Amino acid sequence: MNVIVCVKQIPDPAAPGALDPSTNTLKRDGKLILDESDSYGVEMALQLVDKAGGGEVSLVSMAPNGEVSGLRTALAMGAAKGILISDPALQGSDALTTAKLLAAAITRAGGADLIIAATESSDGYTGTVPEMMAEVLGLPSVTFAKALTIADGKLDAQRQTEDGYDDVTCTLPAVVSVTAGVVEPRYPSFKGIMAAKSKPVDTVTAADLGVTSVGWAGAGQTITNVGQAEARAAGTIVEDDGEGFAKIVAYLENLKVI
Ligand SMILES: Cc1cc2nc3c(=O)[nH]c(=O)nc-3n(C[C@H](O)[C@H](O)[C@H](O)COP(=O)(O)OP(=O)(O)OC[C@H]3O[C@@H](n4cnc5c(N)ncnc54)[C@H](O)[C@@H]3O)c2cc1C
Repeated sequence: MNVIVCVKQIPDPAAPGALDPSTNTLKRDGKLILDESDSYGVEMALQLVDKAGGGEVSLVSMAPNGEVSGLRTALAMGAAKGILISDPALQGSDALTTAKLLAAAITRAGGADLIIAATESSDGYTGTVPEMMAEVLGLPSVTFAKALTIADGKLDAQRQTEDGYDDVTCTLPAVVSVTAGVVEPRYPSFKGIMAAKSKPVDTVTAADLGVTSVGWAGAGQTITNVGQAEARAAGTIVEDDGEGFAKIVAYLENLKVI
């Protein structure tokens, strides 16, 4: 079984990020790392391929400046190869363009039995790329998966809900977004890190993928403003003088929540 995992390479969350004030987008000119959200997808893919007894895990990533550090981390975990979509023309690309480019790279690579992404990235957070990619590829889309089983050419997924999970079945190939924490991502071993240095990463441009209208020109949206999140207001303290419960009930009634 062959699985492709979409891995986003993001600015290190431990280092303070900076916005480009002219575009209101995050500056991504420094070193990028593997988004932790995607390490779960990589681990899940490795486990599924292992269980299937054959096949391989490939990666696809779109990132500026030919950045491969995050890809190398996922290769060190055990993925076999990667595709990097990197092209100065991509600057300003929105989530839909990203989905189109990832889908085109997956098609160019010959597709896979399963395509895995995270439910949302840690820096962009739109939570829309996997579903748009499925639409572009014309494949079933399963979201918020917390467990996956492949058998008889079908995918069974436990789809996380607020109350528990739904059992979802679909045909393969399919695009699945997995939730964080579904599996324990392995740490790359020293041997894995050394092996990752020579694993193939194919770099492609938008033109190679035949995707036109990318970058700022292709973005259907503009980021008009970025502001500070509102500071949390201090809460209301209810002193219990023996009738504290009544004050809380009155407070909640006033908010019309009970
Ligand atoms: C007008 C506009 C301009 C923008 N300009 C830029 C820019 O110049 N540079 C820039 O870097 N960003 C830019 N962005 C942000 C960029 O579009 C999003 O970060 C990106 O499209 C993915 O969205 P997301 O992270 O919210 O994806 P989500 O849907 O939250 O991601 C879910 C999962 O999809 C997969 N995925 C998402 N993105 C990628 C990727 N790039 N490679 C591989 N897998 C991926 C991963 O598995 C990820 O965990 C811009 C956005 C807008 C609206």
